[in-house]
Amino acid sequence: MTSLKHSHTFGLNASCEKIHYIDSIEALKLHYQRSDRQAEYILGEGSNTIFLDDFEGDVVLNQLKGKAHQENENSHNLSVGSGENWHDLVSWTLAQKIYGFENLALIPGTVGAAPIQNIGAYGVEIAQFITSVEFYDIDENRMKLIKNEECRFGYRDSIFKHELFNRCFITAVNFLLPKKHTVNATYAPLDTLIKPCPEEIYTKVIEVRKSKLPDPKIQGNAGSFFKNPVISKEKLKSLLATHSKIPYFEVNDSAVKVPAAWLIDQLGFKGKEYRGVRCHDKQPLVLVNSGNGDGEGLLMLAREITQKVTQAFDIKLENEVRLVGRQGLVTL
Ligand SMILES: Cc1cc2nc3c(=O)[nH]c(=O)nc-3n(C[C@H](O)[C@H](O)[C@H](O)COP(=O)(O)OP(=O)(O)OC[C@H]3O[C@@H](n4cnc5c(N)ncnc54)[C@H](O)[C@@H]3O)c2cc1C
Repeated sequence: MTSLKHSHTFGLNASCEKIHYIDSIEALKLHYQRSDRQAEYILGEGSNTIFLDDFEGDVVLNQLKGKAHQENENSHNLSVGSGENWHDLVSWTLAQKIYGFENLALIPGTVGAAPIQNIGAYGVEIAQFITSVEFYDIDENRMKLIKNEECRFGYRDSIFKHELFNRCFITAVNFLLPKKHTVNATYAPLDTLIKPCPEEIYTKVIEVRKSKLPDPKIQGNAGSFFKNPVISKEKLKSLLATHSKIPYFEVNDSAVKVPAAWLIDQLGFKGKEYRGVRCHDKQPLVLVNSGNGDGEGLLMLAREITQKVTQAFDIKLENEVRLVGRQGLVTL
């Protein structure tokens, strides 16, 4: 058995049968030609995955590195190995005066996992810069490329979480960043900056994230545990009758997004702890490992939160984080 404690940012004590390190396309092909594919889990930096228990299978760990940069009059085109660290890429682009990724600074994880849940922060989603995603089709044993339009990007969602889950190993992500760039400073607290340049946005985002979110290196966590639920305007209207202070953001003509943190906070979960897993004292959307947490405690807390939110608001919270148990994915 191999420990996974340091392979996922929540840091629960869990193990798997074996870890296969993939650092080249040749190693990747060889792995899948040999593998019988019984219970395997593809892993990047484990910042969106929590291993709740000892996983009865192997982990295939992505270490595909490298980046290529081309430019023309209008844009920068980047092709980046999926095992590169996302924040390092953001910092590198800014140092090259390539702009667009600044709002997404300090999001943990690999470049290859970024399209999977269409990472986003401060009004920007990565989907807007992706032209295509290269992957190894495990079922068909061959390399493929999928264009942005086919990726079905949505809020923390894409085809990689559905039809292509566990069927594809993302090897590279291709981006286009226009040279004519307008900064996005519409979201608080970026809206307090006066005529900010991308470098200022980058610095501010890092400062705010460091002050708001617990550092996984110090306190195990996987960022936002739940997605912000999207509800119909009709439903919002009926909720406002009983909860007049409910905050919301317009998504389109018929739907709004409600901050899950507000819903959880209303029910007094801040600081609630089961078996070493706690709802963060300041940011209730984040569950943290107090140091000796276990998977059972995490499930108890997460399930209680979803049940109470459903009871109080008739809203079903969905977990943003992948939960892996003995046999694979676990649902709440
Ligand atoms: C403190 C903190 C803050 C965060 N803030 C944000 C935020 O602001 N916005 C946001 O969107 N997310 C945020 N996250 C979530 C996380 O950073 C992202 O989801 C990130 O993209 C996960 O990358 P990873 O490499 O760690 O993924 P992992 O957890 O290793 O994997 C995530 C999923 O992708 C699959 N996968 C990984 N690599 C591949 C591959 N090469 N091919 C196929 N499948 C693969 C895995 O099987 C798994 O299902 C935060 C997390 C933390 C801990």
